[in-house]
Amino acid sequence: MTQRKITLDGKEALCQEGETVLDALLREKIDIPYSCQQGACQSCLVRSEDVTPPEASQRGLRAGLCRQKYFLACLCYPEQDMVITRSKLPDYFTEAIVTDKQLLNPETLLLTIECKDPLDFYAGQFVKLKRADGLTRSYSIANSRMHATHLTFHIRRLAGGRFSEWAHQELQVGDTIEVSDPQGLCYYLPERQDQGLLLIGTGSGLAPLAGIATEALHHGHTGPIHLFHGSREMDGLYWIEEMRQLQREYPNFHYTPCISQGDPPAGVARGRANDVALAAIPDLKGWRVYLCGHPDMVNQTKKQAFLNGASMQDIYSDAFHVASSSLD
Ligand SMILES: Cc1cc2nc3c(=O)[nH]c(=O)nc-3n(C[C@H](O)[C@H](O)[C@H](O)COP(=O)(O)OP(=O)(O)OC[C@H]3O[C@@H](n4cnc5c(N)ncnc54)[C@H](O)[C@@H]3O)c2cc1C
Repeated sequence: MTQRKITLDGKEALCQEGETVLDALLREKIDIPYSCQQGACQSCLVRSEDVTPPEASQRGLRAGLCRQKYFLACLCYPEQDMVITRSKLPDYFTEAIVTDKQLLNPETLLLTIECKDPLDFYAGQFVKLKRADGLTRSYSIANSRMHATHLTFHIRRLAGGRFSEWAHQELQVGDTIEVSDPQGLCYYLPERQDQGLLLIGTGSGLAPLAGIATEALHHGHTGPIHLFHGSREMDGLYWIEEMRQLQREYPNFHYTPCISQGDPPAGVARGRANDVALAAIPDLKGWRVYLCGHPDMVNQTKKQAFLNGASMQDIYSDAFHVASSSLD
């Protein structure tokens, strides 16, 4: 079996076949920031000091960074031994003021902030929010690009979660928070506008999908847009009326709220959002698919969407991993 030696800060980790550089470093308890482990959040950006990193490990990085041999440890299956260094590139953060806080349901906060500088983002991308003590977490932008300085987020409160509990309980309107450059590859571009869009989200996974749907409709997307939003119970759903209003305004937009437990009221489907969606639209050949929210749902549905005919290049996803950086 081929093993590759990864050297960081004079410490060595042996990368087994089928393992990423990140897997090997974490197994050896070598401290390295990481979060989504899917190449989206770019927290595990590192730089090769010697060999050129595999192309697949540079997915989504700017050309300049690729030339300087930066790569994502979570996407890198090394082809040779590598000497690597930590990223010296700090995330670029801008300041923002909290302008509104509202509860969307008992566990989800609608947070609105106004950025000092306009943010050039695509609908569906996420940013890192940083509080004064440096604690940083990723949250998806819930609005479309029509508002470049005004951003909204849906923050689900996790019991014992350091950032989410603080955002719910302590963060106040008027407070300052820092916002990183937009990141991630799960976003809408106004191309192939007659293509069907299938959007499936669980919990606060509605945030990026609402941004994507609004953006697509704003750009005059003509293909059918189907949004399925799921939770266990009615309490976990939100924005039902807002999405129904969008459905009334745009004949090509279809919205299905779903609950997986209990008896659903009229207009709400029974079952997990991904099961309901794939039963309603079983043939995904030619469709563009967006999956956001619980990592198990995202990973399972990604495979199923591919088996049902969607091309891998047409499947976009953000799994909301809650693993926190070991450097927090
Ligand atoms: C690309 C991306 C986009 C995301 N978008 C969103 C979004 O739009 N909305 C959203 O709500 N979330 C989103 N997330 C998740 C978000 O980034 C945070 O991970 C989440 O809010 C939890 O952060 P936290 O600091 O509150 O929890 P953490 O403090 O990181 O804790 C995470 C979990 O571990 C548990 N825990 C913490 N410490 C311990 C311990 N010592 N022992 C045992 N258990 C412990 C907590 O109870 C909690 O359940 C996204 C994540 C990614 C990667």
